[in-house]
Amino acid sequence: MSEYSEITNIFARTILDSRGNPTVEVDCFIDGIQESRAAVPSGASTGAYEAIELRDGGTKWNGKGVNLAVQNVNTIIRENLIGLDVVSKNFQKEIDKIMLELDGTSNKSKLGANAMLGVSLACLKASAKLSKRSEWEHISHLMNTNPSIPVPMMNILNGGAHASSDVDIQEFMVIPHGFDDFSSALRAGTECYHSLKSELKKDGLLTGIGDEGGFAPNLPTNEHGLEYMVRAIESAGYSTEQIGIALDVAATEFYSEEKYQFDKKNLSGEELTEIYCRWADKYPLLSIEDPFDEDDWGSWNLLTKKIGRDCQIVGDDLYVTQAKRLQKGIESKSSNSILVKLNQVGTVTETFETLNLAWKAKFSTVISHRSGETSDTIISDLAVGSNAGQIKTGAPARSDRTSKYNQILRISEKIDNYATPFKR
Ligand code: PEP
Ligand code: MG
Repeated sequence: MSEYSEITNIFARTILDSRGNPTVEVDCFIDGIQESRAAVPSGASTGAYEAIELRDGGTKWNGKGVNLAVQNVNTIIRENLIGLDVVSKNFQKEIDKIMLELDGTSNKSKLGANAMLGVSLACLKASAKLSKRSEWEHISHLMNTNPSIPVPMMNILNGGAHASSDVDIQEFMVIPHGFDDFSSALRAGTECYHSLKSELKKDGLLTGIGDEGGFAPNLPTNEHGLEYMVRAIESAGYSTEQIGIALDVAATEFYSEEKYQFDKKNLSGEELTEIYCRWADKYPLLSIEDPFDEDDWGSWNLLTKKIGRDCQIVGDDLYVTQAKRLQKGIESKSSNSILVKLNQVGTVTETFETLNLAWKAKFSTVISHRSGETSDTIISDLAVGSNAGQIKTGAPARSDRTSKYNQILRISEKIDNYATPFKR
């Protein structure tokens, strides 16, 4: 193998994410030349079982500094990866394994999942480049998949931990599934975004935006959010046969003492289940993510039993992209779908393993951004290369979100295999 494909340096720095918090960026050098760069995203409604994002604490950056994580990359990780050949067989598995061994904890609390993911992704990109493949092609090569363009889930109304409003539900998304290609779907979803703004304005509501670029008004009840979504779809000139609705309830955020504080009421899991069932009857609801708390497995099972044949039930905080928790969900029939976020598990290899396990169980898969993002577009390549079928990456607004959609537009010029996860 040519010497030109050996790692000569790995270098991390602190950069800002879309919320103005510090995050880790990593460069990978081959033969002294910087061949790749990767930035790490960060969540707000994080699951308790996610791999640990190492933060410095103290007063600087409100305790959110990432100096420790950056130093871990620039010392121990760097020392152990220099000299490895990025085009060698099993390179990705090898570097991820080295980092897992260096870390040695069950939750990546020593090195930090933010340090490890930055390196894992920078290495993935360098390996793609030196192998003369685009990133989606490289991912497809590593995973042995048939790449496809994903259907977007676009979060046009923000609430919960992503907004300062009184809306409990975190994300109201459109799924423009009834279109023949990605650019038409993106246009339709974007038109709904603009028509939502007009509908809110008509009613005298505020159209300031939340963390993922969607509008973030106060609303009398959560169900009003669904009504506005239907109005947005229809006033944009589309039918609810072409464009459905997805929710990310992020219910862990309002669960305490075995009750859900929802719409100013204290509800049991059964009572919340009844609400979802009624909504699934009344609205074009195609997908519900995190309908219950991350430990309320019984309610997850009940809802999946009741509406899982017609509605996608997506585990985010429930599974945190980790195969062990997903395995429990498969066995206990807790959902039929998984949200996949690279930084919840912290390495590319483990993310691939979780995706493979999901498909084996016939779960659908949704590749996701975090609410704190950067301009890095690797999740678009992951969604295409893995053949995941769906991607959620916020509103069609602000470059931290549009960069992902725009990357898929570019990839769509190369392949026209468009995923059809909602075709019945
Ligand atoms: C989510 O909950 O799906 C999400 C994208 O938000 P966060 O990154 O805050 O967890
Ligand atoms: Mg979520």
